[in-house]
Amino acid sequence: MIRRVKFLAKEAQLRVKYMTSKDCIFCKIVSGEMKTNFIVETDKVVAFNDINPVSDVHILIVPKKHIESAVEISDSDASDLVEMHRVAKKLVEDNKLEAFRLAYNGGRFQHVGHLHMHLLAGQKVDWKKL
Ligand code: 5GP
Ligand code: ZN
Repeated sequence: MIRRVKFLAKEAQLRVKYMTSKDCIFCKIVSGEMKTNFIVETDKVVAFNDINPVSDVHILIVPKKHIESAVEISDSDASDLVEMHRVAKKLVEDNKLEAFRLAYNGGRFQHVGHLHMHLLAGQKVDWKKL
């Protein structure tokens, strides 16, 4: 009984650390609760088109783990970040992008509180709209 309680407590801790925030849109996308076509999916990351693109190519690269923002990253998130950049590289190569921009928003510029990198490319990349 005690072992079971300890196990459940540990599981709850892990859930808080790694799992979803209940009201987070990107967690719902990651879990499949909100249907979205993934351009790329790996064990740690998904990439999908932004619903409101500001450039010809506007892809969001999102860790499956719920990390709040670029300034709330810890050492244990290192492999997730590396994977995000690996996915960015793949998207740049697959789409033969000669010029591109990778961006994070933060503070009041960030509208979804789940870390995501914007991959922007195309004729006009409207930085100010992002
Ligand atoms: P932020 O302003 O937080 O850096 O960027 C959030 C981005 O997520 C915005 O560009 C917005 O258009 C996009 N976005 C918000 N909700 C959804 C959604 O439900 N699906 C998709 N594909 N993109 C979304
Ligand atoms: Zn989330």
